[in-house]
Amino acid sequence: MALRHDRLEVLDRYLRIPTVSRQVTPEMVEAVRALWRGLGLELTPLMPVEGEATPALYGELPGPAGAPALLLYGHYDVQPTGDVARWQWQGTKCEPFVPAYFLDGKSVAPRTVDEASLDRVVLVARGGADNKGQHLSNVLGAMDAVRAGTAQWRVKIILDGEEEHGSPNLAAIARAHRSRLTADVLIGSDGPKQKDAPTLVMGVRGLLTVDLVADNGQSASVHSGNYGNIVPNPVLPLARLIGDIEERVRTYAAAHDRFRREATEVFANPAHARHAAGRDSGDRRARGRRASGTHAGRRVHGAGQRPARQLHVAGAPGVRLALTSARGAR
Ligand SMILES: [Zn+2]
Repeated sequence: MALRHDRLEVLDRYLRIPTVSRQVTPEMVEAVRALWRGLGLELTPLMPVEGEATPALYGELPGPAGAPALLLYGHYDVQPTGDVARWQWQGTKCEPFVPAYFLDGKSVAPRTVDEASLDRVVLVARGGADNKGQHLSNVLGAMDAVRAGTAQWRVKIILDGEEEHGSPNLAAIARAHRSRLTADVLIGSDGPKQKDAPTLVMGVRGLLTVDLVADNGQSASVHSGNYGNIVPNPVLPLARLIGDIEERVRTYAAAHDRFRREATEVFANPAHARHAAGRDSGDRRARGRRASGTHAGRRVHGAGQRPARQLHVAGAPGVRLALTSARGAR
């Protein structure tokens, strides 16, 4: 039995555990642990000191004495399925937690496919690409190195159980288990595989969301037929506030872009930094602007057609900022 087929079968079993974020049961956690135990890795549930949480799962792989520690992060929770009736691949009905395999558009059993052709097989199941496939392959790779006696690092593994709804307890879990999680390097084993090649991503965008509520101070509906005077419509101050946020984001992005440009000039090519600063600054500025990747999106809801009755409105501005990366974010 070929190794790649065996590994695909492990992923298949992993994907059949329906660990939808926020709906992970203790039985599912045990099923995940049992799968890893079968592979030779004991995972310990980590909880925050206080509060309810889906546990993160923690494990360690030994390395040579005095070796530095690498912390591998992945998550075993998955996105909700959405409308299951709409799950299909090129016209063939699929189910989120029953992996389906296709080769050249035809349904196929992976065992009947030779090893080389496995690269062309499409696997359809919830959580395969986010994130069970990635962390399974990374951890199995580290385990192979341990078995072969070639491991140069001690590897610590943390599998988050709440990533798909914002990891609300991960910080508390990290604080509560600080000494276990301490490492020299962290690899986030989550994200796409660029151009189907092994990829080391050095930076990603951050996301900040806030809820803003503007209130006109009225405790009840003030119907225009019953009440006099002017009732301020809170849509207007909210709109001004959101406009102000966008302005500030642009200002910040401009400052940040300057910083990135200068950092690139200093660090990217030290031998030519001085020369490039003089000759290429125009180019770099143009490229930097294109690469700044700053978006300010916003939603306003609650703005009704009857301002006299309008008590409050809420806005949820979402701001994405491209943080420093060598190639710039797109
Ligand atoms: Zn993910």
